[in-house]
Amino acid sequence: MATTSFTKKTLGFDVEPAVTPPPANSETTFLKKPKLGGKQKKKEIPEGLWTKCPKCETMVFDKELDENLKVCPKCSHHFTIGARERIHSMVETCSFEEMDADMTSVDVLRFTGVASYKDKLEAYQKTTGLKDAVITGCGKLGNFRVALGVMDFSFLGGSMGSVVGEKLTRLIETATDRGLPVIIISTSGGARMYEGMFSLMQMAKTCAALAYHAKAKLPYISVLTHPTTAGVMASYASVGDLILAEPAAMIGFAGPRVIKDTTQADLPPGFQTAEFLLERGLIDAIVPRKEMKDRLIYYLDFLTEGKRQVAALG
Ligand SMILES: [Zn+2]
Repeated sequence: MATTSFTKKTLGFDVEPAVTPPPANSETTFLKKPKLGGKQKKKEIPEGLWTKCPKCETMVFDKELDENLKVCPKCSHHFTIGARERIHSMVETCSFEEMDADMTSVDVLRFTGVASYKDKLEAYQKTTGLKDAVITGCGKLGNFRVALGVMDFSFLGGSMGSVVGEKLTRLIETATDRGLPVIIISTSGGARMYEGMFSLMQMAKTCAALAYHAKAKLPYISVLTHPTTAGVMASYASVGDLILAEPAAMIGFAGPRVIKDTTQADLPPGFQTAEFLLERGLIDAIVPRKEMKDRLIYYLDFLTEGKRQVAALG
């Protein structure tokens, strides 16, 4: 269809021509936002009742998701789960005794970025109800008493600062003293940069405690969940007697973009996923969240068999 073009000159206007000239009182018509009220209002869906699965895009009822340990019932996508929820789903009722529950970080470097570290800590403590990014304690898994450390990604990306390192070290040392197996469930973006070198020191400290634990011939199972990266993967998370991972968890040291830029090579498909690492022998098994407790009990039974036989022989 042919269009006629108008110019200021042909129309004799001083203003730009409009396809539909605006009425004199434009306030009353299309410039005003239409009111959505009364009968026009859509049926309200209360917030926080449904969650859209990022993998299969199904809307999942939150209650169903909670009952399914935050795993999509349609496609088995593993959503992030909080540390408390995870502990609750694994240990026997009322058997968990938390350790160092009130330990909090100190802003030794007086670090200030967009916000000060102190303010960030306070804000995260308020929104998550956690003191830091790990919960530690002793509890029972089936018939086994274990020392359990569970990280929480919602607290500053599960970053490892002095508190995470110290709590885990104390947990491991307690386990060594009491002759208990250690299980650490990791999820972390790495060392906490707000604490600089103090956070990097935690890598050596936790690994040293684990070395003493191994010397006492006690087992340590590391469970990697999405995502476990950087300083945590480069320390206690990768030195388990058994290393398990949840399906599709991202596991690695540097991020894929950094590796791609550094090596100038295309990365293979599935790079840094649990499945990719299992194929190459970096982890021992992929265990779905719903099977985790039973599988851990099975492995603990296997790993402590020798000690039981020695005890039986007197
Ligand atoms: Zn899904």
